[in-house]
Amino acid sequence: MTQMRVPLSAPDITEAEIEAVVNVLRTPQLSLGPKLEAFERATADYAGASHAVAVNSGTSGLHLCIRCLGIGEGDEVIVPSFTFIAAANVVRMERAVPVFVDIDPATLNLDPDKVEAAITPRTRAILVVHTFGRPAAMARLLPIAKRHGLRVIEDACEAIGAEVRGQKAGSLGDAGVFAFYPNKQITTGEGGMIVTNDAGLAAMARALRNQGRGNAGHWLEHTVVGYNYRLSEVHCALGLEQLRRVDSILRRRAEVASWYDECLRGNTDLILPELQIPDGKISWFVYVVRLRERFQLEDRDAIVQTLREQGIGCGRYFAPVHLQPAYRDLPKPNDPLTVTEQAGQRSIALPFFNKISLADVREVCERLQDAIREISV
Ligand SMILES: *Cc1c(COP(=O)(O)O)cnc(C)c1O
Repeated sequence: MTQMRVPLSAPDITEAEIEAVVNVLRTPQLSLGPKLEAFERATADYAGASHAVAVNSGTSGLHLCIRCLGIGEGDEVIVPSFTFIAAANVVRMERAVPVFVDIDPATLNLDPDKVEAAITPRTRAILVVHTFGRPAAMARLLPIAKRHGLRVIEDACEAIGAEVRGQKAGSLGDAGVFAFYPNKQITTGEGGMIVTNDAGLAAMARALRNQGRGNAGHWLEHTVVGYNYRLSEVHCALGLEQLRRVDSILRRRAEVASWYDECLRGNTDLILPELQIPDGKISWFVYVVRLRERFQLEDRDAIVQTLREQGIGCGRYFAPVHLQPAYRDLPKPNDPLTVTEQAGQRSIALPFFNKISLADVREVCERLQDAIREISV
């Protein structure tokens, strides 16, 4: 990608974090060591869960959740299509069937009524995504899952620190997953973490990430067919330091969101994300605006193009999963996914990172509004 004057996202790494990473390199233990243990303990405590299992990506974490819950061939898992493709891919990795369900236009999260309508005798689980860090409707989804005997996996890869009625996203279902790619709220470069209150699931995930080794400590004894999904000590050292300041990072990101809100609030061509939500707390992953109904996909793409030509990074979050080439050979979803497709055509992710300045936010907003005006005439 070409370098943007104002990038879409940018990591925020302190000197202390660099120091912590370099210090690991001075030790003999570069994998499966004390940093892993400390990062897992700290993440479990932060999320209010009993166990945490670090893995090499959010995708690996979600995949292990699917496997640990015994979801396999022919089983159906309800997932949103307005999301990152990994959420659906992990279902297909185990030959299970992703059943796409539409989102609520106000929250961009799974619509609980539509979830309930999509349940069949083959449904095994709901993979709930807390989209853009806004918590999903857990107060409605959890009772639906319970009533139908379904497992709940929380894809909290965009939502570390988000809260539902005082509980952290990721800790409410059978298992939750965080991700630490560089554009996330905190990063390890690459990495992920499963959190759960289920000791059996945690033990299974721990074995599966390490070639199926049991906890007896025999390096050459493999109790199940596993993977190498380990996260190195170098990554864990960075994650541990980043996690220490996650609350100040989240405060800062909420402030940036409020700057965008203030600058764009009067614009009648745009739908802005809500800053406050009832019964919960947003963990700001990205700041995504949507164009009003009268705009088309081509308009959105032209606006994104205009901004990029001016050195302003922006994204088309999300291109619906069911429309991806890799998903064309699946049967057409029963749900028409109308809201998903509309959101996919009209959303624009704006530059959003810890260190963005108020001046940059103001400039992005001006350029965005100019670009919209050009389309409108
Ligand atoms: C980032 C993300 C993931 C995991 O991404 P990795 O790159 O594998 O760490 C999964 N689901 C969602 C919704 C995400 O945004």
